Amino acid sequence: MPIFFLNQNDIPTHYYNVLPDLPKPLPPPLHPATKKPLQPTDLAPLFPRALIQQEMAQEREIEIPEEVRRAYQLYRPSPLIRARRLEIELDTPAKIYYKYEGVSPTGSHKPNTALPQAYYNRQAGVRRLTTETGAGQWGSALSFACNYFGLACTVYMVKSSYAGKPYRRVMMNLFGAECIPSPSPRTEAGKKVLAQDPETPGSLGTAISEAVEDAAKHDDTKYALGSVLNHVLLHQTIIGLEAKKQMEMAGDEPDIIIGCHGGGSNFAGIALPFLRDKLSGKRPKLRAIAAEPKSCPSLTEGRYEYDFGDTVGLTPLLLMYTLGHDFTPPAIHAGGLRYHGAAPIVSLLHKEKIIEAVAYDQQEIFSAAMAFAKNQGIVPAPESAHAIKAVFDEAERCKQAGAAKTILFNLSGHGHFDMGAYQDFLAGNIH
Ligand SMILES: *Cc1c(COP(=O)(O)O)cnc(C)c1O
Repeated sequence: MPIFFLNQNDIPTHYYNVLPDLPKPLPPPLHPATKKPLQPTDLAPLFPRALIQQEMAQEREIEIPEEVRRAYQLYRPSPLIRARRLEIELDTPAKIYYKYEGVSPTGSHKPNTALPQAYYNRQAGVRRLTTETGAGQWGSALSFACNYFGLACTVYMVKSSYAGKPYRRVMMNLFGAECIPSPSPRTEAGKKVLAQDPETPGSLGTAISEAVEDAAKHDDTKYALGSVLNHVLLHQTIIGLEAKKQMEMAGDEPDIIIGCHGGGSNFAGIALPFLRDKLSGKRPKLRAIAAEPKSCPSLTEGRYEYDFGDTVGLTPLLLMYTLGHDFTPPAIHAGGLRYHGAAPIVSLLHKEKIIEAVAYDQQEIFSAAMAFAKNQGIVPAPESAHAIKAVFDEAERCKQAGAAKTILFNLSGHGHFDMGAYQDFLAGNIH
């Protein structure tokens, strides 16, 4: 089973910024109160200047600070694996490769952006970061990164996950972070949602409202978001940039790139550096597929319109595919995909038909995850299992058509904290 490793000095020196290469300019975010295009100063209470600049940067290459590259060396470059054994089991002429981001300290791709975000905040003199977390992957990643760069960290964790994944909370506490179930009585936003429904399982949108409010109320505190925003997608391009070098080592080029989709960061992270060639007209036939849950189908069933990033309406309005900011997705096991919107960059690419989207239900993604685990020995995160199901479908299509396509997917994380979900699956309790 070939694994393609890079050396530590092969860690990219620059991120790839897709903004100047988009088919049309990305429409600006709007101010939540005035509904006028947002000014960079409007974001200053929430983000340090370096990240605000990255949010609207027009340079294609953005340098990765030396200290962040050194931090990346804790786990990067991540391996690229050719899943020969899976190709045989699926009896497909397709070649299947995956980039494995579960090797990071907290088990997913999220430290790729947590580290630079913590770094730029520390450079700006910030003392504490607040954030939200769904399944706990982002909260763990930011807790780790804050600890690494010497910042305090407060995480608002969606209540259903707080109850269902207690060990994620312990991990955050180990890194020195505070973890609060959301909605909480600590913020006005949390109180408002609790008043409407004291039994609510919570949602990412509500947890974002709480974290934003907490940051806005404290001068030494800023806010960090784990997905959706342009600068987050920018940091995640490190995945695709490494994968490009590794595919060259393998002597192959992907025809189809697949990632699961919650807010869009890991999908964009693997796809954008390759889509650069599609956007420039060099590889018009390259396909990229985002796989999302049927219970939270923002790309496949959402509307393309301006909407808030949170539930209560504190964040700027973003033009994106959205199910509505007051949509509370059911408490599915792929908690990291329970977000009502989609990244504006991914949304624009979908609107322009440059990328595709598919949606799956829980039963089929857990079946795919189990088949993958048995074949490759890696138990995938339930989020990543959406990508695996899409790979199985494309491999089957290749079989029917007798087409030897090359498929590359992002295995965004491992499922070692998701054994409760797998236990439910094995007991037949996933519906
Ligand atoms: C958070 C998470 C996701 C979803 O977030 P994106 O921003 O869409 O990438 C997917 N997979 C894993 C393992 C995650 O932790």
